Amino acid sequence: MQTPDLYDTVIIGGGPAGLTAGLYAARARLGTLLLERMGFGGQLLTYERVDNYPGFPEGIGAYGLGELISAHALKFGLQTRNAEVVGIDSEGDVHAIQLADGVVHGRTLIIASGASPNKLGVKGETELTGRGVSYCAVCDAPFYRNQEVAVVGGGDTAIEEAIYLTKFAGRVHVIHRRDRLRAAQLIQEKAFENGKISFLFNSIVTEIKGDSQGVERLVLKDTRTGGSSELPVNGVFVFVGIQPNTGYVPSEVHRDSQGFLHTDQEMATSVSGIFAAGDVRSKQLRQIVTAVGDGATAAFNAGRYIEERLL
Ligand code: NAP
Repeated sequence: MQTPDLYDTVIIGGGPAGLTAGLYAARARLGTLLLERMGFGGQLLTYERVDNYPGFPEGIGAYGLGELISAHALKFGLQTRNAEVVGIDSEGDVHAIQLADGVVHGRTLIIASGASPNKLGVKGETELTGRGVSYCAVCDAPFYRNQEVAVVGGGDTAIEEAIYLTKFAGRVHVIHRRDRLRAAQLIQEKAFENGKISFLFNSIVTEIKGDSQGVERLVLKDTRTGGSSELPVNGVFVFVGIQPNTGYVPSEVHRDSQGFLHTDQEMATSVSGIFAAGDVRSKQLRQIVTAVGDGATAAFNAGRYIEERLL
């Protein structure tokens, strides 16, 4: 019996990893469908500039890079569909990908659904999200022209976004729970040289206070003394790491302790025919350049899997 809507490979996620997998799979003449719930570009849509992607010595706008990668993939005949994946049923050599509005089938599947920002989990955060609490500087920075904002976190994202925020805000307070930043040295140096950024080390946010008009102040705790203080700000940008978008992935696909998907070096997961690529995967370095490498590897091995086992 023929399975309707059967593709050689179905890719879940339209960020750099998924789009590159699409480029490689479509160019290798695999029948390929890419599913994306929002717009193409993934986390690139939330950054301003990228200055460590090879080939662009002056840096490149993140949104523009996303557009170039998707145009490149579409040129080779990649089919796409806007759809939210809600589940996967794997039976034999066919994977049924359950969508909110239907089902498609793939001989192979490449999971490239990326990751989403972690929340702080403190009082006031949920209530004030969209009214002063943000997880995307590019989206919301222009609302804070000449105002005072805080950035929580000490990683690459927090420090790069703090620098970006200084284009708009009058002052940016970086609040970090330890006494040194995690961000790459070069990024740190740029931030330390920026006169609009001040640092509050050994500090955690315990509450975000505000009203229907928005955020008014943060309650901070000094991790060394245990003392509490308040910091008046108009907005707070939270960049405290990411969690994988795997809610729809069955438990047979093995994960690490933080929920990122385990793969081998061919991007194969623990389930035969299912591959994973990009930030959703358990790995050391989450960058655009490693995401596109994962995507290419996953697509190549999906093709090889079909050749070896299914033809
Ligand atoms: P990250 O590197 O995991 O950093 C998260 C930061 O948040 C750390 O400083 C961490 O503190 C802090 N944190 C975590 N939980 C917290 C909590 N509950 N309260 C307060 N602080 C908390 O995450 P990321 O910055 O989002 O970056 C994710 C990945 O993307 C990384 O691999 C990063 O290198 C990469 N990235 C690269 C670039 C670039 O190369 N240009 C840009 C953006 C992102 P501790 O330091 O104390 O753990």
